[in-house]
Amino acid sequence: MAAGVQRNTKQRRAIQEVFRAAERPLSPEEILERARVHVKGIGQATVYRSIAGLLSDQFIVPVDIPGHPSRYELAGLKHHHHFACMGCGRVFELEGCPYNGETDVPRGFTVTGHEVILYGRCDHCQGAA
Ligand SMILES: [Zn+2]
Ligand SMILES: [Zn+2]
Repeated sequence: MAAGVQRNTKQRRAIQEVFRAAERPLSPEEILERARVHVKGIGQATVYRSIAGLLSDQFIVPVDIPGHPSRYELAGLKHHHHFACMGCGRVFELEGCPYNGETDVPRGFTVTGHEVILYGRCDHCQGAA
């Protein structure tokens, strides 16, 4: 049993490492692919289990793009938005915020947050259309 726990810890650390190094939100498949570089033989079930654990520890947060499976990124990143590529399905992180807060809301309403998702084609998919 001790060996099993140790193995899980190693796998979970590898997945944390993947998130720390990630330049954009990752799907479970992308997490698996990258975790395999650190831990040979790691499986999809372990990745899903680790994602659930890291979510409940608030180490990562989901990035939900309508029509796409959830992606995940480190929690607590600076305010930013995402670009979803309709070609390859990858989701990219955008710097800054295009929303200036000037949208009128009904009288008595208070805005406490917003989401902006840009859709398009990434540089890689641009030529492949
Ligand atoms: Zn693309
Ligand atoms: Zn914003």
